[in-house]
Amino acid sequence: MKEYKLITKILIFILILMIGSSFIVGMFFVTGIWLPDDNSSYLDNNQIHITETPKPSITEIKLKYFENCTKESSDPFLYPITKDEGLDQDYVPKVIPTNLTGGKEVTESIIPYLKKLFQKAKSEGINLQIISGYRSYQTQENIFNSYVNSELNANPYLGYEDAVIKANIYSAKPGHSEHQLGTTVDIKCVDCTAFTFSEKNIEVYNFLEENANNFGFVISYPENTTEITGYKYEPWHIRYIGTELSLKYKKKNADKEIKQPLQKFLIDTCKTGNYG
Ligand SMILES: [Zn+2]
Repeated sequence: MKEYKLITKILIFILILMIGSSFIVGMFFVTGIWLPDDNSSYLDNNQIHITETPKPSITEIKLKYFENCTKESSDPFLYPITKDEGLDQDYVPKVIPTNLTGGKEVTESIIPYLKKLFQKAKSEGINLQIISGYRSYQTQENIFNSYVNSELNANPYLGYEDAVIKANIYSAKPGHSEHQLGTTVDIKCVDCTAFTFSEKNIEVYNFLEENANNFGFVISYPENTTEITGYKYEPWHIRYIGTELSLKYKKKNADKEIKQPLQKFLIDTCKTGNYG
């Protein structure tokens, strides 16, 4: 009898153990703490369907922008170029001819936006022409040196350093031109002289002020910002930063009498990763 009692006790113990462990495993299922490796059948049974592709996380978005915010990036299209911050000599983007009036070369990715901008102008009776596109480091160096030399020729008593400072007011030092990115162009009216404020050019500049942002471009050096940028107002000079950001720029400056220069806007954007 004793043996029977012992066996019954053992059996009851095993039974309690089995019920207990099934309950624990069951709870894991219900709470989702543990799912089998292939959980699709479990999800199907419970009518949970994941149909949307997952949205990029804030970290991924930030990374995307931060990557483009450094000159080391393969495509630093958001890199803030200032009188202090410039691109290296070996930054040479892949550029192709625009095939638009004025020709010149830019990166392939901005051509569709440039074309749309030209079409929009044409629809308003304005014929645009590109004056400058991509400018290599070497070309910038040649241009800058020629300006320094003409300053020295104009004033033989001027020291070299002072000549550099004078030339830098209207010309970028090598590596400090947004044109090296291949995403920047200068524009004028077809029949106008470049970089002037003739009546027909002003029509172009007003058009760019109104429309450039809608196509991903920003006038880098707005009116009355020389103290910040070190450049005078250049309404002909537009840089592509993507429609998302250019529209944000437009919204941010909509009610401002003096617009924020692009370099400041990009520094803020690149620091925070806040593009929304
Ligand atoms: Zn320019």
